[in-house]
Amino acid sequence: MAMDDTLSGVRNKRGDWAPHRRNEIAPFWAWPPRLTQVLKWIPGYLFPWNAFHMATALLWWYAVVPEVATMKTLSWSWCGGMLLVNWFAYVVFYGLFEWRYCLRKVQGRLFKYHHKFPSEQASDVFWFRSQNIDNFLRSVLISVPLWTVVQVAFLWAFANGLAPWLAWADHPLYLAALVLMAPAIHEVHFYVIHRALHTDWLYKKIHSVHHNSVNPSPWSSLSMHPVEAFLYHAVALWHLVIPSNPIVAMYQLHMASFGAINGHLGFDRLALGADRGLAAHAYAHYLHHKYFEVNFGGDGLVPLDHWLGTWHDGSKDGDRLMQARHERKLERMNARQSARREVPKGSTSPSRDGA
Ligand SMILES: [Zn+2]
Ligand SMILES: [Zn+2]
Repeated sequence: MAMDDTLSGVRNKRGDWAPHRRNEIAPFWAWPPRLTQVLKWIPGYLFPWNAFHMATALLWWYAVVPEVATMKTLSWSWCGGMLLVNWFAYVVFYGLFEWRYCLRKVQGRLFKYHHKFPSEQASDVFWFRSQNIDNFLRSVLISVPLWTVVQVAFLWAFANGLAPWLAWADHPLYLAALVLMAPAIHEVHFYVIHRALHTDWLYKKIHSVHHNSVNPSPWSSLSMHPVEAFLYHAVALWHLVIPSNPIVAMYQLHMASFGAINGHLGFDRLALGADRGLAAHAYAHYLHHKYFEVNFGGDGLVPLDHWLGTWHDGSKDGDRLMQARHERKLERMNARQSARREVPKGSTSPSRDGA
């Protein structure tokens, strides 16, 4: 029952499945306020993902990060150690999802947005014509090292007193509030860099690498051009600017480095056991990979897309809004082009194109 996808969505002729449920922005933005909705939303905000990112942040802080005295000086031994752990964590964490849902295919195509698995579509845009190999290698060779660079940078800065390091005992409420705010920081940071990366030149040079995966799988999550991989993880560096604590910075980093999987699962619901499923809510970002011009932010926690007119909620209405926006854009482009063709007033030179 929990893994029946015919009730909660619809499959088209090609075999792509889409949920009936619309992508919704966080309920506390609603006016008038809907308190019960907000209360119902809180558990999903904390569990499982944000709680998981905090758990791994604590694990890293207590089991991986060296003594503060060691971190004062950059050295290959501790920085290399951090890289090895991150590589291991990347392969295990992302690999687990990839292996279970895309290799062993424990739930087949149930709740799968795209009718194909990336392994079924060879393409010249990828290294070795394989999306899986390309995405995996880019992540391992480029993104995980840059994630480590950001990690080492804030640990070194905190160790050397270059940023205010608040102790939990002195500022428990402020730091707790900062932990609760961190997903919002993530969303705004991601939206801003992502929107910039969608301008023509940056898209062509940088962001197109990530968008080669029109049908993303877990390996696609961190498959990025180096510039994007750095900017994306650099969200943790905000904790050198705002008074914070290295554990909160680590939490912020892990929300980016592990949390990227969320939008790239390719499934709306993941089978956990015989009849248990975990809601994945990867649809908003799936639509971004499909249509490019919508859902630049995350899942609507800070609904910048909604406010700026680029939100696609997955419904027919969402399609219509996107189409209308696209037509307006074409009109603007045509108007600009014909303005350029017109002869400027007072000019004596004849129009070259004879118009
Ligand atoms: Zn993506
Ligand atoms: Zn994009």
